[in-house]
Amino acid sequence: MMFEKVVRGHIVTPEENFLGEIGIINGKIEEVSKMQDYLDGETVHDFGNDYIFPGFIDTHVHCYSNPNEGIQRASMAAAKGGITLFIDMPYDLPTPVTNKDILNEKIDTINKESVVDIALWGTVPKENGAAVVDELADNGVAGFKLSTFETDPYRFPRISDADILETMKKAAKRDLVVAFHAENDELLTRYIEDAKSENHVEPIYHNLTRPPVTETTAVIKLLDMATWADAKLHIVHVSHAKSIEYINWFKAQGANVTAETCYNYLLLTTEDLKELGPKAKINPPLREPDELKALEKQLLNGSIDFITSDHAPWQKADKSIGNDNIFKAKSGSPGLEFMIPLLFDYLIGEERVTLSNFAELLALNPAQRFNLDNKGSIEQGKDADFTVINHRVSWQIDENEFISISDVSPFHEHTANNRIEATIVRGEMVYTHDHGVVEKNSGQFVKPSLIKDCDDQ
Ligand SMILES: [Zn+2]
Repeated sequence: MMFEKVVRGHIVTPEENFLGEIGIINGKIEEVSKMQDYLDGETVHDFGNDYIFPGFIDTHVHCYSNPNEGIQRASMAAAKGGITLFIDMPYDLPTPVTNKDILNEKIDTINKESVVDIALWGTVPKENGAAVVDELADNGVAGFKLSTFETDPYRFPRISDADILETMKKAAKRDLVVAFHAENDELLTRYIEDAKSENHVEPIYHNLTRPPVTETTAVIKLLDMATWADAKLHIVHVSHAKSIEYINWFKAQGANVTAETCYNYLLLTTEDLKELGPKAKINPPLREPDELKALEKQLLNGSIDFITSDHAPWQKADKSIGNDNIFKAKSGSPGLEFMIPLLFDYLIGEERVTLSNFAELLALNPAQRFNLDNKGSIEQGKDADFTVINHRVSWQIDENEFISISDVSPFHEHTANNRIEATIVRGEMVYTHDHGVVEKNSGQFVKPSLIKDCDDQ
């Protein structure tokens, strides 16, 4: 049999890893072989001893929180960073994704401009939110993202408990996840007002005004509501181990809940916030070193389902405005194009998890949670999405060289001891280290696989 393409290297599957090769036809994995020089291909890519992982998935990206970024630029950054699919957040400027027209416009942009595959989060408006759930589900959102904390009354509002519960019930009927930015609006608004009135505006006050209780009180409420609503709940950017302890307790009672943390919470602490100021301002805030260790313990015992970037492409001016007052700086940081090398060093380089665990956290688990049935693992019949990592080289992260519009990161000048050698989306090489982003517009909008209830609609 002649394959259109054959890819050779050190292949990582959910169960094992081996030197082998993958035969591709029509963008799909047709055969996975443990032999080498065995499959015949019209084109053969030999990556030697480099790791071939399933294409990595980042479920938490904000392409349009800075509208200068947009789909094309973010997806090029993703290709460079070894992300073959991301799920883009709905809090776009100027208009959030709250109806099918806005959603379909965004889908058109993806199909025209994207380099990698993209799925989409929808959200609900501040008033009568649940009314839009079915319309957005019908048009292919991968899930709903809501907030218990008001970042912006129109674009990123706090949703009332009544609308949260109703949205959970409706989304559950469509087998779609409802994900939450879980912070207690009343508590942290009060703490920030107090800090400002006492002129406590140094960087550490970003942490001190958002103590762990501002996260855990929001998480517990959502866990309880999801239990009553029979919902598929997902908590984004968990920053504290206590949240995971509560999630585990509710899981043990039967709640359908998953949790992610972001790479920042595993690699940075309040020490970095004190030193770097606005650059290290993210929500929820960075935690104390002992709290990071406790979170890491939860990750390593399997209680955290996946790791995301929360890519927010702010620029130097968005951060420097907070140099004298941390509360004025924008919250968030980029990550699409360098998160994987950082996590590879931390988790594989420092031998915290196996290669297959790494692939689970960054590909299989998110694919399964969002019903992205063609994604997530190197197995016959799945899309030929691969991330190739060369683990024998070092390079330095330079915030002035990002493909992303962002030019500010707490990881500036940090050394990575591996690099993305190639990124392959449905059999197409979209990025190589030698040639950069080589294939444009090959990305597609990806819908979750249809669920039984909706087949006859
Ligand atoms: Zn976010």
